[in-house]
Amino acid sequence: MNNKKYATYLFDKIKRLSFSNPGVTRETYGKGENSTHKFLIKELKRNTHSLDIDYGGNFLGIHKGRSEKIIVIGSHLDSQKHGGNFDGLAGVIMGIILIKTLKENNIKPHYSIGVMGIRGEESCWFPYSYIGSKIAIGQFDKKLLHSLKRSDTNKSLYYHINKSGFDAKKIEQGKVKFNLKNIRYFIEPHIEQGPVLEKKKKPLGIVTGIRGSFRFRDAKCIGEYLHSGATPIDYRKDSVVAVSTLVNEMNLYWKQQLKKGDDLTITFGQFFTDFEEHSFAKSAGLVNFCIDVRSNSKKVLEITKKQLLKKIKNIEKNTKTKFKLGKETNSSPALMNKKLVKIFDTYSKSIGTDSEIMASGAGHDSSVFANYGIPSLMLFIRNKNGSHNPNEYMGINFFMDVFKVLHGVITKKM
Ligand SMILES: [Zn+2]
Repeated sequence: MNNKKYATYLFDKIKRLSFSNPGVTRETYGKGENSTHKFLIKELKRNTHSLDIDYGGNFLGIHKGRSEKIIVIGSHLDSQKHGGNFDGLAGVIMGIILIKTLKENNIKPHYSIGVMGIRGEESCWFPYSYIGSKIAIGQFDKKLLHSLKRSDTNKSLYYHINKSGFDAKKIEQGKVKFNLKNIRYFIEPHIEQGPVLEKKKKPLGIVTGIRGSFRFRDAKCIGEYLHSGATPIDYRKDSVVAVSTLVNEMNLYWKQQLKKGDDLTITFGQFFTDFEEHSFAKSAGLVNFCIDVRSNSKKVLEITKKQLLKKIKNIEKNTKTKFKLGKETNSSPALMNKKLVKIFDTYSKSIGTDSEIMASGAGHDSSVFANYGIPSLMLFIRNKNGSHNPNEYMGINFFMDVFKVLHGVITKKM
């Protein structure tokens, strides 16, 4: 079977294994994820020299090169509930095809090549991201093994890991199975989950960094409900005006930073007055809202937060309102390896594959490996209709275009 046919066969097979109308469901440490791992391990074993499964159920199959050092191609195999078939899966299948090609053509590359299938990346099953990759590198917080409960069963992560046939106790003891010192690079091929490559008609995105974030999910602005006809502007304490001013100012600030060349997104995804008390004949005394700020630079995130707080202070003074931002959550940005970006960019150009250098707005396992200190890279594959939904669609020809670049770099440039 040629590579394109074999890839199509694997995508279709996994789709059938995890089908849940509409879309697929591969729940973390549940039926969908377990059967996907089991099937792909069987396929991968046909072509690897060795295959290991760690205490958390991540697998790593290896094709030996001249060096002991490994380039790991990997991604996650869980999905959202009724999600798309390609998110995560594409990266692992690309690794499997790569190893198959190396074996069939008797190629011994400089580095050994590993394929890693990772557990639990999506945070919809357990309210936590990157469970599998953090277990793989021994950085999973052991307290969470008991406290995290799966959203559909309400049973603990500890329970589900053991029920799936792995060893939560070893994870609790901080044990790591894979030999991390041997991992030279981590490369994650993954569908693009935004519209950029589709709009620009390019098959490949080379990712420079994965954005980190800070968020205030439950922010509010408190003013006063006052008569709309009887209260002059100077006497008002209008929460709608206050938060709108903030939205407007932050939007202008965002545009200025982009002009300076900074990577940044600012989103006020929720904005609502109090249904019980608001009225067309009153200025509003309460607005609930949220803020989501992302950047691939830690510094930009810090500066933006300072700006946000400064603007809020001014707006409070001018509108006589009070902001309460509530609990903050955040994640660290991760930079992809510059040398790898360059190698892939140069090579893709040299064979006429159109590529786009871009940041990733969504989080991915490669950020865990990058922040651990393993030089990492993400390759985005052109994909239609967004992601995390059943209509997610990656054309197999774009997958093969990206495969060609990956195969070429690994056999010729490394
Ligand atoms: Zn994903």
